[in-house]
Amino acid sequence: MTGYDTFLPEDIPAWQGPFWESLKAHDVRVQRCDACGAFRYVPKEICPSCRATAATWSPVSGEGRVYTYSVVRRGPTKEFQAMAPYVIVHVTMAEGFRMVGTLLDVDPEKVAIGDPVRVRYSDVTDDWTLLAFGPA
Ligand SMILES: [Zn+2]
Repeated sequence: MTGYDTFLPEDIPAWQGPFWESLKAHDVRVQRCDACGAFRYVPKEICPSCRATAATWSPVSGEGRVYTYSVVRRGPTKEFQAMAPYVIVHVTMAEGFRMVGTLLDVDPEKVAIGDPVRVRYSDVTDDWTLLAFGPA
């Protein structure tokens, strides 16, 4: 029991599969609209900028800066409580869109908006890898 068992989905729509596969490969890919070039995150079937459906799973720099964050002091399960305090962070990626993940290897009391971070990967089970970040 890792604590994640409760929260991992049982089924993912096939069109979202490439995102999760890219995390498992430690090579995050994000949809990029074939019509207007906008990045789409979280994965979406329709571009919020131009409503086109076609997109290509594209590599990103993995670099960004803290947009905002929360320090979790009371975990939702006893397993997460054992990890507390931990930090959930929203990151403005170098490409301009925002991603969300756990911020690893930091002192939760010293995180600041604007801190440079880069993508990391949390292999939480044999089948699942979650997006995370760490200091750049
Ligand atoms: Zn578009």
